[in-house]
Amino acid sequence: MNTSTSTTAAPAWHELALCAQTGPDFFFPEPGTSLRDAKRLCGACEGRAGCLEYALTHDERFGVWGGLSERERLALRQSR
Ligand code: SF4
Repeated sequence: MNTSTSTTAAPAWHELALCAQTGPDFFFPEPGTSLRDAKRLCGACEGRAGCLEYALTHDERFGVWGGLSERERLALRQSR
């Protein structure tokens, strides 16, 4: 008897994360430095929507998540 099940689940957002290839420093830059390169990478990331939702749900305060800075996530949270 075959008890195994075969499922084809969509990859989780973190499995699609482009930032996994760059390392965390890229997304947690020193205060006052540009976020442009991180945001550009997020713009090409297939996990972006899930990443942003995760950050909003878990109240992530630091770094770039889903292409948004801390300040931008705060504004989005307050507008919901
Ligand atoms: S959207 Fe940006 S921070 Fe989020 S997983 Fe993709 S590359 Fe990383």
